[in-house]
Amino acid sequence: MKTGNSILSSYGTTIFEVMSRLAEEHRAVNLGQGFPDDSGPADVVAEAQRYLAEGWNQYPSMMGLPALRQAVAAHAKRFYGLDVDWAREVMVTSGATEALAACLFGLLEPGDEAVLFQPLYDSYVPIIRCAGAVPRFVALDPAKGWSFTRESLEAAFGPKTKLVVLNNPLNPAAKVWTEAELRVLAEVVVKHDAYVVCDEVYEHLVFDGRRHVPLITLPGMRERCLRIGSAGKTFSLTGWKVGYVTGAPGLMQPVAKAHQFLTFTTPPNLQSAVALGLGKEDAYFTGLAGSMQAKRDRLSAGLRAAGLTVLPAEGTYFLIADIGAHLRDGEDDQAFAKRLTVEAGVTTIPVSAFYETDAPRHLVRFCVCKRDEVLDAGLERLGAYFGG
Ligand code: PMP
Ligand code: GLN
Repeated sequence: MKTGNSILSSYGTTIFEVMSRLAEEHRAVNLGQGFPDDSGPADVVAEAQRYLAEGWNQYPSMMGLPALRQAVAAHAKRFYGLDVDWAREVMVTSGATEALAACLFGLLEPGDEAVLFQPLYDSYVPIIRCAGAVPRFVALDPAKGWSFTRESLEAAFGPKTKLVVLNNPLNPAAKVWTEAELRVLAEVVVKHDAYVVCDEVYEHLVFDGRRHVPLITLPGMRERCLRIGSAGKTFSLTGWKVGYVTGAPGLMQPVAKAHQFLTFTTPPNLQSAVALGLGKEDAYFTGLAGSMQAKRDRLSAGLRAAGLTVLPAEGTYFLIADIGAHLRDGEDDQAFAKRLTVEAGVTTIPVSAFYETDAPRHLVRFCVCKRDEVLDAGLERLGAYFGG
């Protein structure tokens, strides 16, 4: 019998699916997979309904509705001072997931190398490998605020390096990259004549007065970066799968070629609603970050009270707990996360799932973007489990 693609066959079912189904089976409080449990901004949802009833629901242009592409360009100017030509430099995709695939398939050729920081989002490496390219990893040290050294970065680059994938803010580490770190990365990228695929889906979820700095705004980066955003995260509507890529025309061309064979278009009613959303008042965006920060604080305090060690969380939907002291003999983070679901009724994501090599085995990720009563219910169960 012939078998399927050997690269894809080497991966199991994604950890998000595995843990969410396990949570359902055991009626656990699901603090694993990253999705909010509120209904999103009412005006954005109403616009999707209106367009569905009254709009043109046939294939839109493969690049996306002009209204959304203009809104993406206006958003880049408003938040980052970035001048973007919406007609040549913005493309709408079916979620950031498709945007990532289109960027990687569009730019990589067999034998190319891609530099990635670990921990990393689980879709990057399978796509890179399917494109025939080779991943090179840079370790981020959890004991030192998920930092890296210039030497470790340089060591991952070589004559075959085509691109870097940067996730800022970083899932699952909840790290917001500093401008100093981004400058080091930019220097090395220019030195090696590489591109950067910037996964910035959590751009509006940064805390404690921090500012999100898109790499594309740094010197020398405008022509080298593809910046990816997601309405799922910015409007708490993860099931919508509306994403967007911004980049220089020469970079967008190969990416559009990949997109036309991946999904070609994205539902126009949802695009229209996201266009309205990106134009919302500043208070919406600051309110989103503020409420997520409060949830981070609530969950962090509760986890500490339950006896867990919580790592700093500067942004994203997530925070990481060090469960080293709670591991039983021979148990790793995956076994621990399963035990916690089955015995305590709380679901997390084992952080080793975000590694291809040298995974730590003592960390789990909690999702903070849930209603307060859901966070409290989870905390009560953990308090009973670890306290009892
Ligand atoms: N990148 C990162 C870092 C993510 O956490 C996610 C998960 N939502 C995505 C990309 C995918 O985003 P989307 O749902 O828009 O495809
Ligand atoms: N990005 C979400 C997370 O990290 C989940 C996305 C997915 O389920 N693929 O939890």
